[in-house]
Order: sequence, then structure tokens, then C-alpha cells
Amino acid sequence: MNKKVLVIGSGFAGLSAATALADKGYQVQILEKNDQPGGRARAFSADGFTFDMGPSWYWMPDVFERYFQSYGKSVADYYSLERLDPSYRVYFGAQDYLDIPAGLERCVELFESIEAGSGLKLRKFMEESAYKYEVGIKDLVYRPGRSLLEFADWRIAKGLFQLDLLKSIRSYVHQHFQNPRLRQLMEFPILFLGGTPKNTPALYSLMNYADMELGTWFPKGGMVEIVEAMVALAKEKGVEIVTSSPVRNLKVATGGHISGAECDNATYTADIVVAGADYHHVEQQLLPAAYRQYSPQYWEKRDMAPSSLLYYLGVSKKVEGLLHHTLCFDESFDEHAAQLYDHPQWPKKPLFYVSATSKTDPNAAPEGKENLFLLVPTAPGLVDTDSVKKDYLHLLMARIKKLTGENLEHSIEYQRSFATSDFVSDYNSFKGNAYGLANTLRQTAILKPSLKSKKVNNLYYTGQLTVPGPGVPPSLISGQVVADEIEKDYAKALAV
Ligand SMILES: Cc1cc2nc3c(=O)[nH]c(=O)nc-3n(C[C@H](O)[C@H](O)[C@H](O)COP(=O)(O)OP(=O)(O)OC[C@H]3O[C@@H](n4cnc5c(N)ncnc54)[C@H](O)[C@@H]3O)c2cc1C
Repeated sequence: MNKKVLVIGSGFAGLSAATALADKGYQVQILEKNDQPGGRARAFSADGFTFDMGPSWYWMPDVFERYFQSYGKSVADYYSLERLDPSYRVYFGAQDYLDIPAGLERCVELFESIEAGSGLKLRKFMEESAYKYEVGIKDLVYRPGRSLLEFADWRIAKGLFQLDLLKSIRSYVHQHFQNPRLRQLMEFPILFLGGTPKNTPALYSLMNYADMELGTWFPKGGMVEIVEAMVALAKEKGVEIVTSSPVRNLKVATGGHISGAECDNATYTADIVVAGADYHHVEQQLLPAAYRQYSPQYWEKRDMAPSSLLYYLGVSKKVEGLLHHTLCFDESFDEHAAQLYDHPQWPKKPLFYVSATSKTDPNAAPEGKENLFLLVPTAPGLVDTDSVKKDYLHLLMARIKKLTGENLEHSIEYQRSFATSDFVSDYNSFKGNAYGLANTLRQTAILKPSLKSKKVNNLYYTGQLTVPGPGVPPSLISGQVVADEIEKDYAKALAV
């Protein structure tokens, strides 16, 4: 009989792992805590407004295409994409902004208009970033990180220099550009990786290539379309998704073999378990202590990606001055970063991000209105209270007014907030992290929490706290990588 796999969690990583395993012939069941699949990328509607709850930037379209093509499908079979132009707007002060055009050539022109000679440098920067993207996203991210030997090939040895693994993205960017705005613009994509420009390897300038060359896209209907597409494909492959079923406990037999997972009203048996829920939650809360591979001290020392203070606002008018994606970088990035990582506290003068998908999608808000999603990166583990959330909403409204001239405070007809405590209660997130473990040098590849448990022989992990890291494309890849490892291990076991 086919081996039975239980996947805990139906985020991108869980869905991806489940689909890949079902495709390989395993019998797969997903147990999901919440009442809908998608994890951090769930969506909701209220009072005629629709909101994606988490990710909003569709980058690296090639990764999504490769995902569906590996099953003989195409993205176009499930949803349609539109390239945004401008890709996004960045505010540096009141009515003082740059719109980043779609396509490298127009970015080169923009750079040149700001700093003489920087257009040429951008072109050179992008050539190097294209190489890093080629090696990084098409090769390195597919390595499971179980042994150093995986990296012992010529491209990596050569790449220590060419891939800039040992240099920070900050020094790399500063080496190329002098203008503070251009520097900030080139450092922005690092925010997706959860670290700071100072502690993130310059390998990740591949994100600049994703930004300026590959572009910012929007799946019509919102990011939740990706979830729906992946769920449809998973079901087509025979995956069963059981929602509203939080796993409370994993049953481990002596010797380290999981026999099943206990939910509130049922126990599910398994030959193999894939943990797609937050790694820390599964190993520290669902496994008996004797079978945990990492100590609480280990987890305390990890550099987690930030949490977020989020607002979902339905606004009763159209808002001039905001695009589909708007970054408000009118305060010091380094000061905010220090309050995220060095001295965790509520940021005094936060940078923040606004998404208004109603600028592109007329169905996202009633006619003449706007659905705004506001995101402030915050340190993991902070205590959020109603009064903190109220104060920050007020602060953000004042900042939007200063930057765009739009007074929104009296135009909010729907509002909901989401913060650290919600990440914990909704996703069992460690310290309320929003997007996993930061991609710093000391947390790259084999230095990440391992995708295979060393203490439980049939337990594997996937998702944004293991390889390759945070973000939607890496989570999709993580699921495929773990499925391949399971297939290798079990094919090997059967052959013995
Ligand atoms: C606010 C925000 C904005 C982001 N923006 C972007 C962006 O623009 N672009 C981008 O690429 N990425 C973005 N990201 C990151 C991206 O969304 C994540 O990296 C990705 O969704 C993580 O997927 P995952 O499958 O690893 O985890 P999750 O989506 O968290 O999935 C884990 C699942 O496990 C379930 N679970 C937890 N505990 C249990 C249990 N005991 N039993 C059963 N199920 C359980 C959870 O309910 C959840 O469904 C953003 C993230 C956030 C939060």
C-alpha cells in the first residue's frame, strides 16, 4: 500500500509538499488549524472590500510558472497576471517621491537622472545580479541543506566571490551608488528577507534583479488566487485537506517514530509527517521533549524576521497619491532597523508600506472607494494592546496626510488590525514573526533549522523557517525540496 503522509499546515509550503508527494504516489492528508487554507496568505471580505491578509508582492513569476509546469500545467490555467507599471512608488518626504518604472531600461534612465554615471553602474549591478539569480533561484534554493557536500561544486567555490556570499548587501550597494535615495531603493528588497542590509549577504542582490528586471505583477483577484490555484491542483492530485483541525500532539513511539497526530476530535495515522506549520511550534510544542532537536536557547538565539502591525482599511473615497504599492521611506531606515533588531521596541518613526489593490482590481472595493492594507514592520515578541494599535493608526493617517495631502481619518468605513498576538494565535508563530527566519549569513543553507529531524526518523519540515527561507516563491520551493528528500529517503529504504 502507498505510504501515508500527514502534512501539518496548508500554507504555500504545506500545499506544495502535499501536491508533490501526492504526485509521486503517496497518500496525502493536510491537517490545517484554520477554517480556510493558505496560511499567512489567507484573504477575507467585509462590507464590500476584499483584503489579502499577508503577501501582496508577486515577484519571481518564473518560480510560479515552474511550479505549475512541473505538473504539466501553467499559471495561465489558473489565474491571469498583470505587470504593474509603475512597479511601485517610494515617498521620501511630503509630495516627494519616485515612481519605479517597469523594466530595466527605464530604471537606468531614472537612476541617471538622479546621479550621473549611476545608469551604467545599475546595468553592471544587474548583470551580476542576473548571475546570482540564475545560480541562487534556479539552483541553490533547491538544495536541501542537509550536508556541506551539496555545495562542493565549482560554481559555489567560484561563487564565494562571484556570488558575494561574504560581503554585505549594504557595502555592495554603497560601492555602486552614492545618492542616498538610490541606496535606499536598492536596499529595499532586502526587507523581504527579514534581515538588515548590514547582515544580509550581497548574494541577495538577486532580489534587485527580481524587482527591476523580472518585475512586479498582480494576479487578478489578488494573491489569494495563488492559494486557490494550488488548492485546486493539490485536490486534483488526490490530496485531502482537513480544515479547522489544529494538531495538538504528535505521538512518538520509543526509538523516534511518529505514528500519528492528535487533533481535538480525531487521531490521524501516518507513515511520514511533514511539518508545514511554524518549525518552532511543531518541534517545541507538538513533540515530546526527548525528541526535540533544538533547545529553547537555540531558538532564542535565532534572528527572526520581523513581526508586523497590519491594518485593513475600507476607505470611502479614492485616494490620490497612493499607487497599488507605496513605500513610505520618509524616516530613517537604520533607526527603524535598530528598533527591530538591536533594541526591540515599538518604532518611534516607522517606515511603512501601503497596498491598494483597488487601484488595479475594481472588484477589491466598492466603486469610488479604496481597500488599503498598511504594514509596519515591528520587532517580534512585542506586546500589542488596543491603545498601541489605535495610536499607530493615528500616526499612519498623519503620515499619509503629510506625504500625499490626503486626509483619511474620517473616511475609514471599515477597519481591522492584525499584530504580533494575532500571528501567535492564528498561526502558532514563534514570537509572532510574520515571515519566518531572517536570511542572514549565519542562517543560510545548512545553518538553518534542518529540513529533516535527526531525532524522529519520519519527521520532515518545510516552510519559511527552514530552507530556502521566507517569501512565497521560497515557500513553494521548500515544499518541493522536502518532497524530493522524502522520495530519496524512502526509495533508498525500500531498496535496502
Ligand atoms: C504581512 C505579510 C506580508 C508578506 N508579504 C510578502 C510578499 O509581499 N511577497 C512574498 O513573496 N512574501 C510575503 N510574505 C511572506 C510569505 O507570505 C510567507 O513566507 C509564506 O506565506 C509562508 O508560507 P508557509 O507555508 O511557510 O507558512 P504559513 O503560511 O504560515 O503556513 C503554515 C500553516 O500551518 C498552520 N498551522 C499552524 N499550527 C498548526 C497546527 N498545530 N495544526 C495544523 N495547522 C497548523 C497555519 O494555520 C498555517 O496555515 C509576507 C508575509 C506576511 C505575514
